[in-house]
Amino acid sequence: MQPTILVVEDESAIREMLQFPLTNAGFVVQEAADVHHAKALIYNNFPDLILLDWMLPEISGIDFARQLKKDAKTQHIPIIILTARGEEEDKIRGFDVGADDYITKPFSPRELIARIKAVLRRVSKHGEILVVKDLKLNPTEHRVMVGETEVEIGPTEFRLLHFFLQNRERVYSREQVLDHVWGANIYIEERTVDVHIRRLRKALAPYNYDSFVQTVRGVGYRFTEKN
Ligand code: CA
Repeated sequence: MQPTILVVEDESAIREMLQFPLTNAGFVVQEAADVHHAKALIYNNFPDLILLDWMLPEISGIDFARQLKKDAKTQHIPIIILTARGEEEDKIRGFDVGADDYITKPFSPRELIARIKAVLRRVSKHGEILVVKDLKLNPTEHRVMVGETEVEIGPTEFRLLHFFLQNRERVYSREQVLDHVWGANIYIEERTVDVHIRRLRKALAPYNYDSFVQTVRGVGYRFTEKN
């Protein structure tokens, strides 16, 4: 199936400039000139990726990205932010809202397509269903199932479990867990990790998976299938 790319950009010249190369690269292109229209398209037909302009009327691209990343229904849709500014601070802000990449105008369609493909590759790997015995974590549906039962799990514990399932048997320090699960730019105390590990074990306990999350004394944590 051809991936759908939603272009959210108020300047029609840029939307037109992108239409041909994106279609030619095998994408289905949808266009929105403002956030209102973009929302309607997103909730109707979840696109595979959103190209989001920074400078939009009313709501900025950054604020819109933040909204999308907060909503469980849309947070898994990758976003590439288009920006005319190049300052480092802006780039960092772009990542803080959870944008998957950004590209500074003017850019060549070729460069843009390469970036889109790289993000889609990363995400499809990220969207892979992870399985341990009868426990399944589905990143796209944001669900953890044990057999037919859905595990009640908070968003942070979900991310923790996702990270552990992708990196089984490896030991991580609290600092490494923070960097991977919360992001390197965020300042959080290391004992926050312990709090969420406890919650994760509690969520898994009814299904006897809590013991898979091991404390490695003096080092940190590990998810193991060998117990
Ligand atoms: Ca614009």
